[in-house]
Amino acid sequence: MIKKILTLILSIASLLTVFGQEVKSEQVINDSIITKLNDGPYIFIKDNQLIEKNIIDGKVVSKKLQNNAYDTIYKPEKSVFNNVMKVAALSDIHGQYDLAVEILKNNKIIDKDLNWNFGKGHLVIVGDIFDRGPKVNQMLWLTYKLEHQAKAKGGDVHFIFGNHEYMIFLKDFRYVNEKYLAVSKLLNRDYNELYGEDTVLGRWLRSKPTILKINDNIYLHGGISEEFLAQVDFDIEAINNTMRQSNGRSKEDMKTTDFYKTYYGSTGPIWYRGYFKNDLDDEQISNILKQTNAMHIIVGHTTHDSIVSLYDNRIFGVDSRIKKGENGEILFIINNNFSRGTKEGSRIKF
Ligand code: CA
Repeated sequence: MIKKILTLILSIASLLTVFGQEVKSEQVINDSIITKLNDGPYIFIKDNQLIEKNIIDGKVVSKKLQNNAYDTIYKPEKSVFNNVMKVAALSDIHGQYDLAVEILKNNKIIDKDLNWNFGKGHLVIVGDIFDRGPKVNQMLWLTYKLEHQAKAKGGDVHFIFGNHEYMIFLKDFRYVNEKYLAVSKLLNRDYNELYGEDTVLGRWLRSKPTILKINDNIYLHGGISEEFLAQVDFDIEAINNTMRQSNGRSKEDMKTTDFYKTYYGSTGPIWYRGYFKNDLDDEQISNILKQTNAMHIIVGHTTHDSIVSLYDNRIFGVDSRIKKGENGEILFIINNNFSRGTKEGSRIKF
């Protein structure tokens, strides 16, 4: 018993040391975070066994699951879809699970019990579930559950990777919520390894695309730039596979090649903000749409107070500041009619 208490004290002490390096002045707050910490599940795959770990009041609780409790094999997801009657899209949730749930409920994408309620519709999350906010893991599990429920009803959920998903995969932890630094320490793994190749969510995440096309519309986090199109053949599946393969590479290794600048640079698909800088004319937008064989491009990443439309309703920006945890919107495309769904669930046509 004394040994157990000593171990606990030591582990809390070492946790505080970590916080001491990260946020020097907030040790008292961090102490209360640890003892009240509840998070999970994290499901690890070890020797074909599924081990579920939860953090309950600051302690790790592990249990073995049935081997078939979760899929452990995820093929690269298809990224081109046709004949979809209704689509809803939002982005940049950044751990603001409660607000995202409120928006999804009020807009009838999910019911009061958080189950799929959008029938054969497709929900698109246009990147950046990770970082900043405190409920990233919950949002991932909700997305995971909804994807399975939607598919069973003839609908679908697509989680497109944003720059923050790639940042975590490349071990850039600058924007990780301090809660998750504690979780990472308690589970004795780097934060990216909580979603490593030996985890259920990690394998699922590795199947995700960077660019998605539904009907005549393209969805991606940052945008397609002229510079990107000048360097890459616009083949959606090929680009997605290239991005997936880069997940296992180190940032330092990639930075020595042109690849990094093309795919991860400021004109690449996950970081581009060019549509919002007012320096593209209508003809340039027409050329981008022509080269990508699209009618509209829907992006996240660049934040506004609401969902915005640019260039005569050809470009839509869906990052509506959900990351602040206060307000946000969801874009609806129903039979090619575009409207904003507000947090309260009303619709405003474009
Ligand atoms: Ca972003």
